[in-house]
Amino acid sequence: MRLLLLAPPGAGKGTQGERLAAWSGARHIAAGDLLRAEARADGALGREIAAYQARGDLVPDQIVLDVLTPAVVEAAACGGYILDGFPRTLPQATAAAELATRLGVTLHAAVYLHAPEAVLTQRLLDRASQSGRSDDKADVIRHRLQVYAETTGALVPYYAERGILVSVNADQPPDDVTADIQARLARLPGAPAEPGDRPPGAPS
Ligand code: AMP
Repeated sequence: MRLLLLAPPGAGKGTQGERLAAWSGARHIAAGDLLRAEARADGALGREIAAYQARGDLVPDQIVLDVLTPAVVEAAACGGYILDGFPRTLPQATAAAELATRLGVTLHAAVYLHAPEAVLTQRLLDRASQSGRSDDKADVIRHRLQVYAETTGALVPYYAERGILVSVNADQPPDDVTADIQARLARLPGAPAEPGDRPPGAPS
């Protein structure tokens, strides 16, 4: 199965991405994690990525595409992918769609997790004391939500127009969010027949 999770910070896309990967057999590709790993590496590129992340700004599209593309291509060849946090801009979405079309591995669905901004802010503030993330601070959290609203939010109509948007209420307990997503996806080609029940060799 090939999905992307489209969601503002704090909507739970990391948690849901891991669960959907276990459910479907597809690989969970978390853009933020891959970029954080790159940022920890020595060198100018790592420092540049770290600076964007610490400010809560989007890393430039070309860097994101260079880091993400090999992981997506590899996952597409073996069981599919759950993209978490990529694409986040229209140019990224266009580049990802062109690549997927060229490889014959286009998306089955874009899962949009939505919740009120006050809920997202509170969740991120609650997480801040434990996460150790440079961007989990009140002012940066506010900025990340603003960046989402100004830029990434435009991808909701983009995928709706392409007929693959699946909207799910993320303002409920994680198990209920997972159940809602699975129920909505179960009708797609390549979906596991039952939650947690992936037939061996199931098509991706
Ligand atoms: P996340 O772990 O998904 O919350 O992402 C953390 C940070 O990584 C974001 O605030 C951005 O700085 C950067 N990032 C993650 N994904 C992308 C992307 N697709 N495009 C640009 N920057 C990204």
